[in-house]
Amino acid sequence: MNKFKAEAQEFAIKLMAHLVVPTFVLDAEGHVIIWNRACERLTGVMTADVLGTREHWRAFYDAPRPCLADLLVQGRAAEIPALYADSDTLTTLEHGIHASNWCVMPQLGKELYLAIDAGPIYGDDGRLLAVVETLRDMTDHKRAQMALENLAACDGLTGLANRRSFDDFLEREWARARRDVRPLALIMVDIDHFKRYNDSYGHPTGDECLRQVATALQAAVFRSGDVVARYGGEEFALILPTTDADRAILVAERIKAQVGRLAIPHAGSEHGHVSVSMGIAAQIPEAGATAESLLSAADAALYQAKHAGRNGFALAPVLK
Ligand code: GH3
Ligand code: MG
Ligand code: MG
Repeated sequence: MNKFKAEAQEFAIKLMAHLVVPTFVLDAEGHVIIWNRACERLTGVMTADVLGTREHWRAFYDAPRPCLADLLVQGRAAEIPALYADSDTLTTLEHGIHASNWCVMPQLGKELYLAIDAGPIYGDDGRLLAVVETLRDMTDHKRAQMALENLAACDGLTGLANRRSFDDFLEREWARARRDVRPLALIMVDIDHFKRYNDSYGHPTGDECLRQVATALQAAVFRSGDVVARYGGEEFALILPTTDADRAILVAERIKAQVGRLAIPHAGSEHGHVSVSMGIAAQIPEAGATAESLLSAADAALYQAKHAGRNGFALAPVLK
């Protein structure tokens, strides 16, 4: 090798080592041949510990699994969607692949959301020589985005799902119930004589009452798939997947008991304390029925419960 070429090669290696972008390179057999300093800083794993090995996954995960570069080396690009299910951008570029993922980062002891690019390097004969993987720490950006999404989905006063996410959940659960041929139950909940409550105790106390009722509703459901939402004003709604009328009635009874246990005084109510009325509708989605028809059936049942004297529930007739 002539002097000029040797110097150029040395410079290239130095350049890679000092590149500010965290980068590592695998050879065609999947061994680490470059692990630069930015990669050391990002992962907490030192070059000496991974160079020449196939142990680079340890920098990112606590159990063996391929990194994006390994999938390119092994020609397993088809597995990317399964392994990067948490990825929000997955693009197959002409010369490489991009994905984002939450990584465990065992050496750091904290999770990072990494944006990952993996690009193959081919020899003149078209053979794969190596795969370069570059990483970007997008954790702050991802967390900010998640916080914004959470803010957009939650009701500011109670922290429950807001009307918008209720609508999304209902459509999704309705579609799922139709596909699985399972019942879906809906309970509409409305605080009794809440206008009088505000008039007697003031709006801020009314807000506090709404918060407490929200907590009581959450205490009445146990399943992780159940959704408790603030439907609007002093109305709440529960979506109970895989729940028939009998089980929905049990939930309504628990709600009544939980709200009763709050024992919030309400002089303007015939019951002396804050109570709620509920409308229940449950059905297996069938032809002709829609999520909207389930909602209006629950609403009609709520109206019935109000007329029957409040502090109770009514069940909508089976919908056809
Ligand atoms: P009913 O038993 O028939 O449901 O009577 P109601 O008084 O509860 O029903 P109405 O719809 O007449 O009144 C609802 C009240 O809820 C009026 C409104 O000021 C109050 N409200 C709606 N949203 C809020 C809120 O965010 N905070 C407070 N404090 N009050 C609210
Ligand atoms: Mg109301
Ligand atoms: Mg009301």
